[in-house]
Amino acid sequence: MIEQSTFNIIVWVWIGIALLVFPLTLKVTAPYGRHSKTGWGPMIPNKLGWVLMEIPSLVLFSYFFLTGSAEKTTVHWILWALWTVHYFNRTIIFPLRTRTKKKKMPAVIASFAMFFNLVNGTLNGYWLGNFSTWLTNDHMLHPLFIIGMILFVAGFIMNQAADNRLINLRKNSTSYSIPYGGLFRWISCPNFFSEIIEWGGYALMSLSLPSLSFFVWTFVNLVPRALDHHRWYKENFSDYPKERKAIFPHIL
Ligand code: NDP
Repeated sequence: MIEQSTFNIIVWVWIGIALLVFPLTLKVTAPYGRHSKTGWGPMIPNKLGWVLMEIPSLVLFSYFFLTGSAEKTTVHWILWALWTVHYFNRTIIFPLRTRTKKKKMPAVIASFAMFFNLVNGTLNGYWLGNFSTWLTNDHMLHPLFIIGMILFVAGFIMNQAADNRLINLRKNSTSYSIPYGGLFRWISCPNFFSEIIEWGGYALMSLSLPSLSFFVWTFVNLVPRALDHHRWYKENFSDYPKERKAIFPHIL
């Protein structure tokens, strides 16, 4: 088993990489979905790409959690269940539901995301399986655990609601249209906003370094993508609601 001090250094390095990558993600538009383009090497089917990208987080988190030496309390199982429900949805259900049948994404993008999920799932699962011995059942009454759980559940519900609205836009069309209703009233990307809320909530619940790193990475990945989506909507729809922000209501 790896020493906790060494593990913590690895996670700090991982957080440092996220901060270094942030200017890059702000500058370079990730070429998948509406921003998809050729010139990024071989392409793979979009749905397959999503399964391959996300599956390491689903499998490795559980593997390292279940094989870890820490005694498992109810708090541990709650954290495991929240992670697993989120990733079961993102890995299996989301790709089955999206209406992106003939679409493709660059294999290199899927590989980057796969690598990210491999590291993220391992760090979080390993921490919960081995270094979380202080997470006794008393922790369930800790205010940060309760606030974090409320944020996670609210984030998950908002994320599902936003996904549903986006998927429904493709009922009668294969292209893009302006989403309305729910949080779309205020922001272009409530799916990204709610994902940030979810992992912020998870970080408060577990109070661990790897969960903080995941929160930082989610911010670094999704804020630039929301800014790109928002710009794209304004360029492509002359009637795009002017008061709408990109990701944080009334702010950005
Ligand atoms: P998008 O919002 O780009 O797309 C989501 C789905 O809705 C896609 O199938 C897309 O089709 C479709 N869609 C989006 N907008 C429209 C529209 N205006 N009209 C019609 N269809 C539309 O999200 P992503 O694909 O980037 O991400 C999906 C989920 O994964 C999100 O919930 C996100 O939070 C999460 N994610 C999390 C990350 C993290 O670091 N934690 C990183 C990346 C994603 P199409 O593919 O054809 O554009």
